[in-house]
Amino acid sequence: MRETVQQVWKKRPMIISGPCSAETEEQVLETATRLAKTGKVDMLRAGIWKPRTRPGSFEGIGTKGLPWMQQAKKITGLPVTVEVATAKQVEDALTFDVDVLWIGARTTVNPFSVQEVADALRGVDVPVLIKNPINPDLELWTGAVERVAKAGIKQIGLIHRGFSSYGNTEYRNAPMWHLAIEMKRRNPELLMINDPSHISGRRDILLDVAQKAIDLDMDGLIIESHIDPDKAWSDAKQQVTPERLGEMIGQIAWRREDINSEEYHAALEKLRQQINHLDDELMQILSQRMSIAEKIGEYKKNNNITILQTNRWNEILDRAFKKGEKLNLSKEFITKYFDAVHMESINHQNKIMNS
Ligand code: PEP
Ligand code: MN
Repeated sequence: MRETVQQVWKKRPMIISGPCSAETEEQVLETATRLAKTGKVDMLRAGIWKPRTRPGSFEGIGTKGLPWMQQAKKITGLPVTVEVATAKQVEDALTFDVDVLWIGARTTVNPFSVQEVADALRGVDVPVLIKNPINPDLELWTGAVERVAKAGIKQIGLIHRGFSSYGNTEYRNAPMWHLAIEMKRRNPELLMINDPSHISGRRDILLDVAQKAIDLDMDGLIIESHIDPDKAWSDAKQQVTPERLGEMIGQIAWRREDINSEEYHAALEKLRQQINHLDDELMQILSQRMSIAEKIGEYKKNNNITILQTNRWNEILDRAFKKGEKLNLSKEFITKYFDAVHMESINHQNKIMNS
C-alpha cells in the first residue's frame, strides 16, 4: 500500500499524472500501472466529464469510467482525482471513492457552477483542487476558493494551468507567471500545483515549463500521460507516455525555498541590501524624471501642445532598445518598463495641463 491521500496532500513536490481523458478500462489501468512503476507519481488523474471548447469532440466517457479509476486505485494504491463541474458529478465521483476532486478552468469562470459544486460538497470531507479561470482574473479564482471554503472544505489547493488568449502564441495557455505568484502571495496557506500540460499544449516545452514552476516554489505538478499519446481522444499533442513522464520528473532540478545555513543567509542578506539601495536610488531617479516631465507639461500647456508626440516616443524607445541591448536588458523588459514610465509621465503631465 502506498501513501494515503492525507500523506500525499502534504508531500512536496506532489506529482499527479494520468490521461487527459479516461477512454477505456484497459487504457486507464495500463496508464495507471505504468505510472506507478515509474515510482515518481503520487496521484492518478483522468477526466471523466470533459468540457470541450467545440462540440463534436470527445466529451468524456462519463460515470461509466469511475469504476475504472476505482480499480486503478486498487491495483496501484495511488489516490485518484477527477474533474467535477456539477452536483451530480460530485455525487457520482464520491460514490466511487474518488480521493480528490478538481474544479476545471471552464468551471471556475462561472460562479453559478462553482456554487453548485460547493453546495454539493457541504458536509463532505474531501480535498479540492481549483484550477485558475481561463481568463486572467484573480478575483474569480479567489471567489471559487471562497465558495468552496464556505461549504466547509478544509483542504483546498490551487492549480495554475495558464490563461487563454486569442491567436497563436508559444503556449496553448499563456502562463502569466506573475498571476500565479500573486495568487500564492495572497494565499500562502493553499498549496499551488502547476499544470505544464495545459500551459504548453505540446510536448517539447513541458519540461521547461515544469522546471520554471518548480523554480517559482510551486508545490507540485499535474502532467497528462497516455499509453499511446498520439492516439489520445483529447489533448493528444501535449500528452507523454508514463515512462517519459517518469524520465521528465527525474530530469527536473528540485530546489527548495530555504536552507539552514548561516553562510548562505549572510551572503544573500548582503546582496539583498545592495538591491534595496539600488531600488531606492531608482525610485529617487524616477521621481526626478517625473518632476522634469511636469516642467515639460507647463511648457506644453502654455503653448497649447498635445501631451503625446509620437515621434518623440519612438525616439525614446529606439534609444532604449539600443542601450538595453548593450546593458543586457531584454527588449521585452525595456518595452514594459518604458510603457510604465511613459504612462506615469503622461499622468503627471495630464495633472499639470488639465487640472
Ligand atoms: C484537464 O485537466 O484535462 C482540463 C480540462 O483542464 P482545464 O480545466 O485546465 O482546461
Ligand atoms: Mn487535458
